[in-house]
Amino acid sequence: MTRILDGKAVAREMRQETAAAVAELVAGGGRPPGLQAVLVGENPASQLYVRSKNRAAKKAGFASRTRVLDISTRRDELLAVIDELNADDSVDGILVQLPLPAQIDADEVLERIDPAKDVDGFHPINVGRLWLDQPAPAPATAAGIVELLRRAEIQMAGRNAVIVGRSAIVGKPLAGLLMRENCTVTVCHSRTRDLPAVCRGAEILVAAIGRAAFIGPEHVGEGAVVVDVGINRVSDADEVERLFPGDAARRESFAKRGSVVVGDVDYTRVFERASAITPVPGGVGPLTIAQLLANTLATSRARQGLGD
Ligand code: NDP
Repeated sequence: MTRILDGKAVAREMRQETAAAVAELVAGGGRPPGLQAVLVGENPASQLYVRSKNRAAKKAGFASRTRVLDISTRRDELLAVIDELNADDSVDGILVQLPLPAQIDADEVLERIDPAKDVDGFHPINVGRLWLDQPAPAPATAAGIVELLRRAEIQMAGRNAVIVGRSAIVGKPLAGLLMRENCTVTVCHSRTRDLPAVCRGAEILVAAIGRAAFIGPEHVGEGAVVVDVGINRVSDADEVERLFPGDAARRESFAKRGSVVVGDVDYTRVFERASAITPVPGGVGPLTIAQLLANTLATSRARQGLGD
């Protein structure tokens, strides 16, 4: 029997734990964690992400705010905003929503954030700390995946983990975190030779590629745990039917929205081979915000002198 790893349920549990910890913090005379998002321009997907982060943060009892800047904002203006937020004592976490407009170098902006407030874990100092096994906020999607595996009691120590994708946001930090869990880690990318064979050696296989249903049964060894990070929109009805034959719920969702969200794994065909698998949606997706809140609670506690 294949286990479905319910990321939504784990995320709910994590958010409840964070909310309880915030209530305790405030009852003890502390201040609620302050999360500050910075959004440049009006990219609809970015607006949506920021809104849902805000909503979740407020629900957990955070003081959550968003600064919206014009699309024409200059580099020095954005850096000045970051400086201001770095100096604001009520701000424990700064989130700069990517992508930024072309005139601004995202790396420079991310480096300007005070590492103690870098709840995305993208600052080079925090990236270094992750690889040195020092305490630091870790990128939320990667840390959320490890939290999911831990809570689902999936054994990690000693197992072969293969990650497909080497982005700074998902693949690379996840490699560091899984190594910390004593996995033997292989990281694959577009230049990997014979990807299916490398993937078949995985006891834990993570797909973070950005290509709908790319990972098929030929990539999956019998009994592997499969974690699907991908979020891809498929707007071709025939493709949806091919990927999810006879799936009434998906057909209905397609009819309503004109597309469905599909992971990087061909879920229907891989399902039988896997011992456990994350669905899309409802797998890795919800963990990112839950982990982001946990990261912000941790930076807030540290900044309020409360340690772990
Ligand atoms: P990137 O585009 O930054 O990285 C994709 C990686 O996949 C690259 O390392 C690339 O290799 C590799 N890749 C591309 N094609 C192939 C191929 N044919 N064979 C092997 N490897 C390949 O993507 P992200 O890491 O940002 O995101 C990956 C997916 O995860 C996306 O679908 C994204 O939407 C989703 N995502 C979901 C999140 C969530 O659940 N909250 C958060 C972040 C991302 P190379 O380096 O050689 O180019």
